[in-house]
Amino acid sequence: MEVRAKKALGQHFLTDQKVARAIVDALHGGLPTLEVGPGMGVLTQYLLERPDIDLKLIEIDTESVEYLLTHFQGMQGKLMEGDFLRLRLEKLFPEKFAIIGNFPYNISSQIFFKVLDYKDSIPEVVGMVQKEVAERIAEKPGSKTYGILSVLLQAWYDIEYLFTVGSGCFAPPPKVESAVIRLTRNGRTELGCDETLFKTIVKTAFGQRRKMMRNPLKPLALARGKADILSLPVFSERPEQLSVEDFVELTQLFS
Ligand code: SAH
Repeated sequence: MEVRAKKALGQHFLTDQKVARAIVDALHGGLPTLEVGPGMGVLTQYLLERPDIDLKLIEIDTESVEYLLTHFQGMQGKLMEGDFLRLRLEKLFPEKFAIIGNFPYNISSQIFFKVLDYKDSIPEVVGMVQKEVAERIAEKPGSKTYGILSVLLQAWYDIEYLFTVGSGCFAPPPKVESAVIRLTRNGRTELGCDETLFKTIVKTAFGQRRKMMRNPLKPLALARGKADILSLPVFSERPEQLSVEDFVELTQLFS
């Protein structure tokens, strides 16, 4: 019996074996690896073939878990039933680890925010997401889709847009195209500014992305007793024009 696809869980099962293999091949590997949302195991089968990968899996759907337990050997102790977003990753992986998955699209942004929370433990992520999300994450400053996740992820990761996957490769086909991206931790160990404040500023600035940054950031500047900085030229720009380094410099102005 196959797993019946449930919309609420973002279930679109990849049916194209070539694409599945290409996703698994994209992982540099050599690390303990967590597969998020294995479903019926289309990626899992190739991951299990790789001797350099010690695999664990987290799947929220009971029916998929049962499917995996009956169709794959050695799932005991590797496969967990539960919500990735609630996982205490530091308990599961005391050392560094990689993440791979054909992610449930309804929570893909939350998955990446969680990766950011654990950035120093996660050197590599290979994931399939909605094409637009992949583009946004990989986008450089100046583009209309450059946003919060682009800045925050690019601060810590090199992002590669690897390839596009048409909706015909899935059952049931999603309404949108998909794409596979790879995140590789860059060499940065610190930002050179307060990290929490950096996040707040990026999120606040993009909260009104069409406005000059003076608007959204004014309350924060006032609250920090920094009204004088608001006349600087950078505050006349829009957030989408600023690189990671620009946001770092901007954050320094608030400290
Ligand atoms: N990897 C499979 C399935 C992709 S669909 C394939 O490529 O065919 C996304 C999968 O993520 C589904 O199996 C869904 O049940 C699972 N999922 C959805 N939300 C989840 C969550 N919060 N934590 C873990 N798995 C989740």
